[in-house]
Amino acid sequence: LKSSGAMADKEWVYDQSYSSWFYLKSGGRYAQKQWIGSYYLKSGGYMAHKEWIYDPDYQAWYYLKDDGVYVTGTYAVDGKNQLFQGNGKWVRELAQGFQKGHYSKTIFLDPGHGGKDRGAYYYGIAEKELNLQVYRKLRKQLEGLGYTVLTSRDSDIDVDFITERSRMVNKTNADFFISLHFNAKGNDTTVNLGIQTYSYKDEPGFPSKINKDWHNNPERMSESNRLAADIHSSLLAETGARDAGLLQATFAVLRETAKPAVLLEMGYMDNPEENQKIRSSDYQDKLVEGIIKGIQKYYAGN
Ligand SMILES: [Zn+2]
Repeated sequence: LKSSGAMADKEWVYDQSYSSWFYLKSGGRYAQKQWIGSYYLKSGGYMAHKEWIYDPDYQAWYYLKDDGVYVTGTYAVDGKNQLFQGNGKWVRELAQGFQKGHYSKTIFLDPGHGGKDRGAYYYGIAEKELNLQVYRKLRKQLEGLGYTVLTSRDSDIDVDFITERSRMVNKTNADFFISLHFNAKGNDTTVNLGIQTYSYKDEPGFPSKINKDWHNNPERMSESNRLAADIHSSLLAETGARDAGLLQATFAVLRETAKPAVLLEMGYMDNPEENQKIRSSDYQDKLVEGIIKGIQKYYAGN
C-alpha cells in the first residue's frame, strides 16, 4: 500500500526497508521469477541487479546491470569479458581481449621482420634494421613520457609473424599494438612514395587462427581505425611525407591481435629519395614524433 493508502497496481515500487525495487502486477500481486520488460524479478519479488540469474523457462543465464537492465553484446563482469546475445542470453566467456576506454598506458611495439627475415632490402639497407632503429627511438621517447613499452623483439632475432607476435601481445595488458614497417614496390611505381597506415579488414578467405573472439569485434575494429587515423594524420603532419593511404588489410598481425592494432609503412625503401630520408636519424626523429602525437591524440580522444 502506497503512502496514499492506495494499492500499488501494475507499477514499480521501491521499498526502502528491503532496499529493492518490486513490481506489482494487475491485482496487486508482486511479480517473481519472471521478466518485466528488461528487468528480472527474483523469488520474493526482488529486482535482480549486478548479478547473474538463470531463467529455467529460457534455459539461459543473464546478467543484470546495476540499474537492473539485462546486458547484450560484450560486457565485462568482474574483469572478464562475457558475450551475450541481443536478447540477453549469455553465450560464453571471451578470451582475454581489451576493454574500450580502460587504459594501462602500456604500449606494445612490433618492429617488423628480424633474424632470417630481413624484409625489404634496397640500397644496402634491410627493412628489419630500419624498423629496429625507429623502434629504439620510439621506445626511448615513450618511456620518457611515462608509458610502459613492451615489444615482440628488441634485437635482430626471428619472430614468426603469423601468430607469434599476436600471441605475445594478447597475453599482456597493453592498450594497443603498433607494427613498424617500411614499404617497397608500390604496384604503380609512380606512387611508391609516402606513408601508409593500416588497420584490420575482415576477409572471409583469411579466417583467424588464434583470435576468433576478437578479430572482428566491432569495438576492436573501431578503436583500431581511430588509432590508425590519429597516427596517420600526425605522421603526415610531422614529416611532410606524401599521403599514400589510410588503408585496411587482413595482415596476420592485425588479424590475430586481440587489442586495437595498426601497421605502419613509414616510407618506400625502393624510392631512392625516400630511402635517403628514412635512413637518416633526423627524419626518423620526425617519424617518432608523429607516432607519439598520434598516440597522445588517441588517448585524449576517449
Ligand atoms: Zn615489412
